[in-house]
Amino acid sequence: MAEPGGVCYPPGLLGVDAAVERLIALGRNSMPAVETVALSAAGNRVLAKSVLAPMDVPPEANSAMDGVAFCHADLPPSQELRISQRVPAGQAPRPLEKGTGARIFTGGILPAGADTVVMQEHCEFAAESVRITRVPEAGANVRPAGQDVRCGQVMLGQGTRLTAPMLGLIASTGLGTVPVYRPLRVAILCTGDELLEPGEPWRSAAIYNSNRPMLAALLEGWGFDVMDLGRVADSREATEQALAAAMSAGADVVVSSGGVSVGEEDHVKAALQSLGALDFWKIAIKPGKPVAVGSLGQAAFIGLPGNPQSVLVTALVLARPFLLARQGQGRVLPHAFSVPAGFASKRAGDRREYLRVRLQPSSSGFELVAHAQQSSGALLSAAWADGLALVEAGQLVRPGDYLIFQSFPTLFIP
Ligand code: AMP
Ligand code: MG
Repeated sequence: MAEPGGVCYPPGLLGVDAAVERLIALGRNSMPAVETVALSAAGNRVLAKSVLAPMDVPPEANSAMDGVAFCHADLPPSQELRISQRVPAGQAPRPLEKGTGARIFTGGILPAGADTVVMQEHCEFAAESVRITRVPEAGANVRPAGQDVRCGQVMLGQGTRLTAPMLGLIASTGLGTVPVYRPLRVAILCTGDELLEPGEPWRSAAIYNSNRPMLAALLEGWGFDVMDLGRVADSREATEQALAAAMSAGADVVVSSGGVSVGEEDHVKAALQSLGALDFWKIAIKPGKPVAVGSLGQAAFIGLPGNPQSVLVTALVLARPFLLARQGQGRVLPHAFSVPAGFASKRAGDRREYLRVRLQPSSSGFELVAHAQQSSGALLSAAWADGLALVEAGQLVRPGDYLIFQSFPTLFIP
């Protein structure tokens, strides 16, 4: 299958960008419930409606400096003014007496009739008057009403994830509450007869469940309410029971790990087909490849592979944009940067590979270093890495080649 860029993948494999586009479109098919919350509880939530400014900010013209407010056209040639009032921040001024100045402080409201502020460093003060030693331009050091925001202006669009400066901006207009989407309830299921939970004694043929805490932490970092439905045995019956439990628990989305390939011990697809609807995709991604997408009643379903490294990469690259779109978030693709590689690859692959890399200072700025162990079963490289570097299908990396880099800190937040 060909991507818009003309890259070709093995038959039956969907390109990552095409898959992400389809997942985002699927995510946008349904909208979460809306609730109104206090601004103090709105951080990191997604706006369900655009926020319009109910007033100008600043509401009134005020001084940007400690100094003297005066009317520029009325300044006498002596540049001396009688001080007729004092205007600290928080106190409403009287209109300016013609031909006088007002002692004013940062944030003080400009008296009617004044249009300019001279900073106090350019003033010589006497007992009741001031001489301006350097006359500023008319209008200087004044913050006009509406300089930041005009009444009625759309400040933030629907689908915006609220950050700290956005909360400050909303507060500056006097709004105490905002309409936001209710966080999605996302259920996690980990399939595998071999799985033990950390803390349990080890037995032969078992491995510990690393996907469970990893997925829970990712989902919590993205702002979802996580419902941990635990471990599921490798049988059709147990898998169907677990999916039914997820449906009756009221999950908005169910995310599973493992059991999604075509082996005899892989029951996720069949269980999903009998209880809901299945769309099975093989994606040209490494690590990763098989992903099950579908629905379970009202809930959406996304079945990730089992290998922990594949879970991490497919969760970050595929599940993240899907879930964020489903949460109503507008911009869901992660920030990416172009950074030169400080390594060479041995051979070109037929899928897009997401290498676990570190960002390291170099003579020209920064370069990417890849961890030596990129196996889909190994997690140490991911714990070591600063993020993911994209190597396209067919691409042979030489030192100095620019690669797209996505940092973990930006992928781990919504
Ligand atoms: P599967 O897709 O179920 O065949 O799993 C692929 C590989 O990932 C197997 O080696 C599994 O043992 C391993 N695996 C599956 N689930 C987990 C898990 N929750 N934690 C650690 N490894 C897992
Ligand atoms: Mg399995």
